[in-house]
Amino acid sequence: MEKKGRLIINVYSAKERSVDDLAWCAFCQDVKPLFWKDGRLFCYEMKFYPKRSWLVVIDSCVAIMPTYNKSIRVEGSANIPSVVLPVVKASAVAEKILEQTLNLLTKPSHRKSSS
Ligand SMILES: [Zn+2]
Repeated sequence: MEKKGRLIINVYSAKERSVDDLAWCAFCQDVKPLFWKDGRLFCYEMKFYPKRSWLVVIDSCVAIMPTYNKSIRVEGSANIPSVVLPVVKASAVAEKILEQTLNLLTKPSHRKSSS
């Protein structure tokens, strides 16, 4: 018997950032909302392939944010106005993405020497 609708999640890249950098990244990539879970703020860029029930996370960022806040402010610069991005508590899927992101970050092979 085949289990239908079993979602496969693969996270391919993970980065640890400051809250400001993460907010900036989310803003640039138009990722909304951001997610929060257990003191971590995170955002991800993904592609979903419905036929295979496959969710590919191309890039995921995580930052330490001890307390939940329902929005986060991105400070603008010269020609860019400041914006406020919504933050929501992680869904079940987002939780799994966070788990894999943290796993990736703890693997030393993940870190590249450049950058
Ligand atoms: Zn990001």
